[in-house]
Amino acid sequence: MPAELVVPHFRQATHYHPGRIKAIRLGVIHVGVTPESITAAEGMVDFAASPGASIASFHLAADPDSLARGVHDWDTAFGAPGANADGLHMEQAGQVMDHAGWTTPLSLKMIREQTARGVKSWHDLYGIPLVHLSLAQVGDGKTKGFCSHWDVTKGIPAAGGTHTDPDNGAVPGYPWDVVFTAADQHPSLPPATHKNPFNHLDDLVRWTQWALGIPVDGKPGAETKAALAALRKRNHIDPALSYPDPKSIAVLSQITH
Ligand SMILES: [Zn+2]
Repeated sequence: MPAELVVPHFRQATHYHPGRIKAIRLGVIHVGVTPESITAAEGMVDFAASPGASIASFHLAADPDSLARGVHDWDTAFGAPGANADGLHMEQAGQVMDHAGWTTPLSLKMIREQTARGVKSWHDLYGIPLVHLSLAQVGDGKTKGFCSHWDVTKGIPAAGGTHTDPDNGAVPGYPWDVVFTAADQHPSLPPATHKNPFNHLDDLVRWTQWALGIPVDGKPGAETKAALAALRKRNHIDPALSYPDPKSIAVLSQITH
């Protein structure tokens, strides 16, 4: 797995699926229906990570001064029915869903500085073109690009989604041109300083050994068990939980070397 955009605030969402189910194809933009305060991104992430969170999650959240992360790019978020297996999802702070609402100075600041930075990372890392897909392209299951939650609801009706964010499909609605122009001007991510060579769904033991920094042989022997137990103890994970549990996966997923 490649490196992902590292942001200051990460809390693993309560509900997500470890690993990717399909290759990444879509970048899906949402609105979190929350005021555009400078703590909104952190607040959305913390809410999705709370024990009583509804079954909904997203990779990144944007507010006017920062991005925060709730799910790693290499895991599957529950962002929109029909676009979870092959999608990356970004919530944005905001309460209105019309063109006027998205083009206030504060919204434009968030879109240019934060939303566009996340979009650029997905473009760089996964080759998602900076284009807004048509409904037919969203629904064809193969064209790569960006779309809204509304586009997923309308383009993949069989999935049964009902959400219409961020713009109810209005034209003009969400200012895609602003996102893509700004994304194009953001610097590319620096080259990865580490590469996890293992997909942890396909090869859990090797991935675990790689993250623990012990010899990778794919066999869960005594050294692997001891290193894993020590890591779990350091992170106060209930030893009665059988591995792989979500908290251990979250801790291991943050290891870089
Ligand atoms: Zn949405």
